[in-house]
Order: sequence, then C-alpha cells, then structure tokens
Amino acid sequence: MFSYPPFEEEILSLLRNREEFVVIGHVSPDGDCLSSQMAMSSMLMKMGKTVHMANAGPFDRSEISHLRSDFLNHIDKDLKQRDPLIVVVDCSAPERIGHLAEEIEGLTTVVFDHHSSGVQFGTYRYIVPRSVSTTLIIMQLYKALDVEISKEIAEHLFFGFATDSGFFRFINAYRGETLRLAAELVDLGVSPNMMNDRMTGGKSLGYIKYLGKLIDRSESFFDGKLMLSSSYLYDNKQYITTDKPSDSLYTMLLSVQKVEIVLFFKELEEEKTEVGFRSSHQSNFNVGALAESFGGGGHKKAAGTTINKPIKEAKKLLLEAVEALLKA
Ligand code: 5GP
Ligand code: MN
Repeated sequence: MFSYPPFEEEILSLLRNREEFVVIGHVSPDGDCLSSQMAMSSMLMKMGKTVHMANAGPFDRSEISHLRSDFLNHIDKDLKQRDPLIVVVDCSAPERIGHLAEEIEGLTTVVFDHHSSGVQFGTYRYIVPRSVSTTLIIMQLYKALDVEISKEIAEHLFFGFATDSGFFRFINAYRGETLRLAAELVDLGVSPNMMNDRMTGGKSLGYIKYLGKLIDRSESFFDGKLMLSSSYLYDNKQYITTDKPSDSLYTMLLSVQKVEIVLFFKELEEEKTEVGFRSSHQSNFNVGALAESFGGGGHKKAAGTTINKPIKEAKKLLLEAVEALLKA
C-alpha cells in the first residue's frame, strides 16, 4: 500500500524557523497549483509567519480570475533583500514559474511537487509523483507540522485533489489512501457536491459554443489511436476562448473508441503554439515523455508544452513523433 515518505528534517526546520516566506506556483495556474499555494500560505500564517504568494499568471480562467489580486506578479528588490524562504509548489521545472525564476535566484528554495518528469531544482525537494495532487502533499505537511486543517483549508486541499484526479476518475486500483484522504477532508466539512459546482460550473454560453466548435473540428489519425483538435487565433473573434476548454474536450475525445492519445493545439501567436497532451487509461503511451522531448513536461497521462512554431508545423512535428513512437 502506498504511503507518503517522511519529510526531511531540514525541510521541516526551515519551515518552522524562518520568518518570511514567498509561496510560488506555476504560470497559467490551475486548481491544484492555486489551491496548493493558498493551503501552504494559510499553514505558514497559522504558524505566525509573514507570507506572500506570487504567480506570474495569467489568471484568465473564470474559476480563478477573482484570485488575481491575492498574488504578487513580481518579487521586488526590498522583499528579496529580506531573504525570504521560497516555497515552490506544483512545478516540475524552474521555467514553469516564468519570470519569477530570475527574481528568486540565490534565495533558499524548497520545492513540493508531484510531477513525474522535469528538471530537478531548488535547494530542497519533496517530490512524490504518486501523489494525485500537490494539495495532498501539503495535507501531509499540515500533519507533520501539527497545524489544524480548518474547513476552508480542507476545501483548498480537496479542490486541488478534485482538479488533478478528474474528480476521482483518474485514480488507479490499490490507491485507497487517496480516497481515505479525501474522506478526511469531507469529514472536515468539504462538500464534494459544492466542489463540483465550483470546478465545472459558471461557464459562459460562449465557452460551451467554443467547445462544440473544437469537437466539430477534431480529427482522427493512426487508425483511430490519436485524436486532435485545434484552436486558432481567429476563434477569439467569435468565441470566448480564455477559459481553457481542454479538460472537457479531452474527456469527450478520450471517450471515442480506440483512442489512446489526444492532442490539443492552441495557436497563441503566429509562431507560438501551446500543445496539451492526454493518454487514455488503458494506453501505455507516455505523453509526459513526449511533451518533455518538445521542451515541456507533466505526467504519463497528462502533459503540456509550448512550441515556438506555427500551429501547422507544430502539428506536423507532433504527428511525426507520435507515428514513430507507435511504430517502435
Ligand atoms: P494542462 O493540460 O492541464 O494545462 O496540463 C497537464 C499537465 O501538464 C499538468 O501537470 C501541467 O503541469 C503539465 N504541463 C502543462 N503545460 C506544461 C508546460 O508547458 N511545461 C511543463 N513542464 N509541463 C506542462
Ligand atoms: Mn498538480
């Protein structure tokens, strides 16, 4: 049975003994990232510390846009001079924190993460790829430091878990501890029903129509093993595209018979394309490794990257790479 490894004593004593902290998460933050940042900050504040949260953004998904003002966009010289302890959550590589990476150079940094691929960084690291979310790692930290988990904090911890587990859908066999941790949070006052509303509700009609367009545009390759869809700059004129449609899109496309891999291409600029990757539960295809070979990263079954090429070229490169891997 899986259990979380103990934290190094150095990490615990840094958290106990330092006075000022900056808690940082990844660019284009998602539910696990922001919930991890908030739960970590609340824990440190309960320990009597001075805490700042920083994130390079953007905060354009509707479920997180109201949080923008709680996060610093830069770590200014004054703050840096006070030598705060940097705590980075949910980031697999230094590039994932965007421009903040340069701003924290030289400061002691502790990283808490659950990604399986990436670049080791930070002074100290606690990396558990088997943890479904980074928030569940932070839940272990609350226990190790004996800090009480209030209902509000339990909601943050659950929200990150719900985001990264696809609301329980991506949990594998023999991972009962994950459900037991979720049950503990429910017993602390979390309503999974309300969390589901918070996670999936509040979308605009424009978003749903955009999702419909992306499904309509989907294409199938390699005898149905791969499906992809594309979002173009001109979509901004007709649809509301700031909300990431990818999660619902992935669910729909992965439900098609025979599909093992889903790719979502988003044209960000004429020569800049964001690519999202998913692979199906039954597939052995490691999209994390594929994304890494294109400068990105993530997990075996969910990953991403941004390629500095026009969308058409990015698609061609990825199709060639997938074809070679399927033949191998
Ligand atoms: P999503 O498609 O939900 O944005 O990302 C899926 C997974 O891939 C997440 O675990 C995320 O951290 C990772 N990921 C997404 N984009 C990138 C990227 O550009 N670089 C890296 N290293 N990981 C990414
Ligand atoms: Mn995560």
